[in-house]
Amino acid sequence: MSLAGKLAQERRARLASERLLEMKQAELSAANRKLGLHAMALTKRIGETQAEVETVRDENEKVKSDLTVANAKIEVAERRLWHSIQTIQDGFAFFDESSCLIGANAAYLSVFEGLEEVAPGVTYPRILEIMITEGLVDIGSEAPSEWQQRLLKRWAIPHPQPEVIRLWNGHYIKLIDQRGNGGDVVSLALNITASVRHEAELTAARERAEAANRAKSAFLANMSHEIRTPMNGIVGMTELLSETPLDEEQRLYLNTIRNSGEALLVIINDVLDYSKIEADKLTLNPEQFDFERCILEVAMLLQPSVRDKGLTLLVDYNLFLPTLFVGDPGRVRQVLTNLVGNAVKFTSNGHVLIRVTGVPNHDAHSCDVHVAIEDTGIGIDKDKIGHIFGEFNQVEDERNRAFDGTGLGLAITKRLITLMGGTIWVDSEPGQGHVSVFVSRCQRLKARSPSRRI
Ligand code: ADP
Repeated sequence: MSLAGKLAQERRARLASERLLEMKQAELSAANRKLGLHAMALTKRIGETQAEVETVRDENEKVKSDLTVANAKIEVAERRLWHSIQTIQDGFAFFDESSCLIGANAAYLSVFEGLEEVAPGVTYPRILEIMITEGLVDIGSEAPSEWQQRLLKRWAIPHPQPEVIRLWNGHYIKLIDQRGNGGDVVSLALNITASVRHEAELTAARERAEAANRAKSAFLANMSHEIRTPMNGIVGMTELLSETPLDEEQRLYLNTIRNSGEALLVIINDVLDYSKIEADKLTLNPEQFDFERCILEVAMLLQPSVRDKGLTLLVDYNLFLPTLFVGDPGRVRQVLTNLVGNAVKFTSNGHVLIRVTGVPNHDAHSCDVHVAIEDTGIGIDKDKIGHIFGEFNQVEDERNRAFDGTGLGLAITKRLITLMGGTIWVDSEPGQGHVSVFVSRCQRLKARSPSRRI
């Protein structure tokens, strides 16, 4: 090859190399640019991350300080709680799910004074055992093993019932145990000695008062019985004396003695009945009787006063209600006489109606008899209704002052009806009238006889 050819070849080669170099340089600068951009992006991200780290660090610091404050607060709350528990006069203890004592206040531990074993870690069964062996509890006639078993059984129940134990020193402790969800138990030992003693005192006082009341009633019953006999003699003698020749004046005196004697006898009989009921000495003498006839007899008895006052007395005995029952006819008559007698006494015009209904109870051969005594008399205020069933209670107002009576009738009536297993109530409207109702479950006998009206 000629020199010119070689030079030309060399120049071409140089030019090619220069182009390659240029290309590489372009690639390099492109790569550099990319690297620069990447580096910038990285720097930005690092900056952001650093900011985040800063924030997290700040938050962490805050959480840490909050935690410290919270821990301090918890400590204070715990201290206060424990302090409060310690100051409670009653015993307080916590047990874990294995019945091991976690902690107890001074009142709880005071029962076990001097027994170092009773401290956190001791088990509940062991505490019971110590109570028995050290004679800390008075278990009466129960065997120690039985007592322990009974209390252990109770302890195992999810929600044990309170248990009252008596300590050696006569103190009564009520154990109240509350089991939590995890099996922990909170135990309260309340000292109820004062209330137990108070209750015993109250019971004794009530028994004494009841005994005194019974004695008073028995005395009253005896006295009125004793007074009744000579009074019967006085009234009887006036009857005989009235059949002898007497002048006008003597007859007037005699009638006054007889009327006063009879009025006194009514009062004495009421007092006698009432005190007998009070002294639990009044018993019913059940026998077969005709209830309808009983009502008619009472109506007949009261007929003179009904006639004198120009009233109408009606008896409405339900056609489908049996008439034969088992009961104490004397006492039934007494109840009716008082209720119908009151209706007549407190009514100056209109009527008095005795309405008897009932629902026969086929299975039990008994019947719920419902007796209502209605009148069109003076009535009483609603707020006085509760009052009139009390002994010696009468409605104290203008309209009532005109009527005599002891105020014992309804008290006796109510007691008698209660003795018969029934109830009594009244419904009244001042100036409109009065309804007394009593309901009693009576033993039935046979089908009813035909009903009557008077
Ligand atoms: P007494 O009739 O002897 O006063 P009760 O115990 O029978 O005693 O009655 C108590 C009171 O109830 C009567 O005094 C009267 O005020 C009131 N009372 C009873 N029944 C009637 C009635 N049907 N109408 C109005 N008031 C009555």
